[in-house]
Amino acid sequence: MPQRPAACLFDLDGLLLDTEPAHARAWQEASTRFGRPLAGAELLSLRGRRRLDCASQVQQWIIAAGGAPLSVQELLAVRQPIAEALLATAPAMPGAEVLVRRCVALGIPMALATSSAQQAVAVKVAPHPWLTLIRERVHGDDPDLGGGKPAPDPFLLAARRLGVAPTACWAFEDSSAGVAAALGAGCRVHVLLPPGVGCQAYPEGVICLNSLEEVELD
Ligand SMILES: [Mg+2]
Repeated sequence: MPQRPAACLFDLDGLLLDTEPAHARAWQEASTRFGRPLAGAELLSLRGRRRLDCASQVQQWIIAAGGAPLSVQELLAVRQPIAEALLATAPAMPGAEVLVRRCVALGIPMALATSSAQQAVAVKVAPHPWLTLIRERVHGDDPDLGGGKPAPDPFLLAARRLGVAPTACWAFEDSSAGVAAALGAGCRVHVLLPPGVGCQAYPEGVICLNSLEEVELD
């Protein structure tokens, strides 16, 4: 059994909260409205990334498909209202609250390392008071943040704020971009497998989970 983590660094979307169906549906509806429906693999590749990074990618796909030239702002003007309505009611992932409360009971420090902007996080966490048990948060629009996932910066910053070595932290992720970020930071990486994705999609050493209920902290 590996040593207990110095801290747990949690992704938010698709890891603690079941928000990925909402994100995917919002990108799909917006892109389709501009004439370019998205494939399942394309939607998966958007997971874990910051909104503007996703918007630039979707904009490129639309333009490459011969769609009318459009700006990121025009795309987001369609996408955001769809996303915001869905995200405000996103449920917790199974086992998430129990895992966070277990960290509290064991005295393990926690941080959120999310690509989501501060304002968006506030909307999503409002129905879930247990998320305030995670005191430290690194947001996608954090002024101290360099690059977004897949860059390691969010996990490095989260560990620094908790005063622990990133290599002594356990990171919990669900996206390819997030796993790359956490590995780059040197964390011990746990990935909650998205539906239809197998463990062989990830580098050796990554711990694959079908549910957060499988996590053993001690
Ligand atoms: Mg995620």
